[in-house]
Amino acid sequence: MPLLDLGIAGAGLLGRLLAWRLARAGHRVSVFDPAPGPQPRFDGQGAAAFSAAGMLSPLAELDNAGPDIATLGWRSISLWRDIVAALPDPPAFGQLGSLLLAHRNDFATAQRVLARLAAVPGATASPLSAQQLADMEPALQPPGHAWLLPGEAQIEPVKAMFSLYHHAPGVQWHWGCRVGTLHDGALQIDGAESGWRRFDTVFDVRGLGGRPTLPLRGVRGETVWLHAPGHGLLRPVRLLHPRHRVYLVPRPGDIVLLGATEIESEDRSPMSLRSAVELMAAAHSVMPALAESRILRLDRNLRPALPDNRPHIDVTPQRVAVNGLFRHGWLLAPALVEDALAAWARLRADAALPGPEIER
Ligand SMILES: Cc1cc2nc3c(=O)[nH]c(=O)nc-3n(C[C@H](O)[C@H](O)[C@H](O)COP(=O)(O)OP(=O)(O)OC[C@H]3O[C@@H](n4cnc5c(N)ncnc54)[C@H](O)[C@@H]3O)c2cc1C
Repeated sequence: MPLLDLGIAGAGLLGRLLAWRLARAGHRVSVFDPAPGPQPRFDGQGAAAFSAAGMLSPLAELDNAGPDIATLGWRSISLWRDIVAALPDPPAFGQLGSLLLAHRNDFATAQRVLARLAAVPGATASPLSAQQLADMEPALQPPGHAWLLPGEAQIEPVKAMFSLYHHAPGVQWHWGCRVGTLHDGALQIDGAESGWRRFDTVFDVRGLGGRPTLPLRGVRGETVWLHAPGHGLLRPVRLLHPRHRVYLVPRPGDIVLLGATEIESEDRSPMSLRSAVELMAAAHSVMPALAESRILRLDRNLRPALPDNRPHIDVTPQRVAVNGLFRHGWLLAPALVEDALAAWARLRADAALPGPEIER
């Protein structure tokens, strides 16, 4: 198997997944990122991946995206299952489905969302009676209307980011290194190790840092981390509301994560009072037991989005760029990485360059 020397710009979700996969396939991998280290900062800077809820929701995302995104999402869920199984210190991963809830007065909003789902062949939302909901999720207060989205999943983002980082064999991680420009087979570093570095192939997965090469924008998202001992919630829950969408996601360690605002702004400053009040009031309305939970963290970050809100893959034999994962990065990343690597391997074969062997 030919060993390639590979450089990755960005140690976010895509960067860590790529590093893990390529290093496992035996390649020499170097990753460059301006962050001071591999850990999250929760200060609105750095990888969006750390701030994410980790919902893998191909059905619910049909409210915001087309059926092709759902198809990529279903593939990714199955890839995540394999990735998690291969990690010695795996993140929590669950596939119990998720719940859509609507208060009695918001039925019209729910109907609009369900109509978008119903337009896609195979997309099902199963209505639940109050008793069925109570049997599945005793911690919830039946709000009027409830549906199960079967097959939807969730992953624990911070742990997944650490596991991919720790178990990518032999990867050289270069922190404090901002990549300015990438050309075929070369990248230019600012900061700690400034200068040009040559590689067989470079990977551009800088998220929002991919500007100005791509016309990216940041879409602000805010979340609330609650410590709620014995909360008992098993599945992610989305509350449909005419003004905002709110979700509650159970995490290990007695944590419930509330999210997320979606604001067309690149403001990275702390969460606003309005967002905090709306998220917490909505969550409390369906799960009153949260009243005595403790607020651990108010977080925010920017989702990297392109004008059409769709992911973008650009591949040459010596340069691979993936970006624009917007609000579905965890949902899409494994399938996009698989597609980008397959296209890259084909192009290298066509160009008679040493080809990568890529294992899953
Ligand atoms: C509040 C919130 C909730 C979310 N919830 C979900 C969810 O439930 N489900 C889901 O599927 N998705 C969710 N997302 C979206 C998901 O987090 C993103 O789509 C995903 O993180 C994008 O991955 P990425 O690797 O492209 O970018 P990032 O994860 O942002 O990583 C980019 C990396 O590139 C680095 N970088 C930047 N500039 C440079 C440079 N010049 N040189 C080198 N490195 C650079 C950054 O430091 C960072 O480490 C959420 C996002 C937010 C903000």
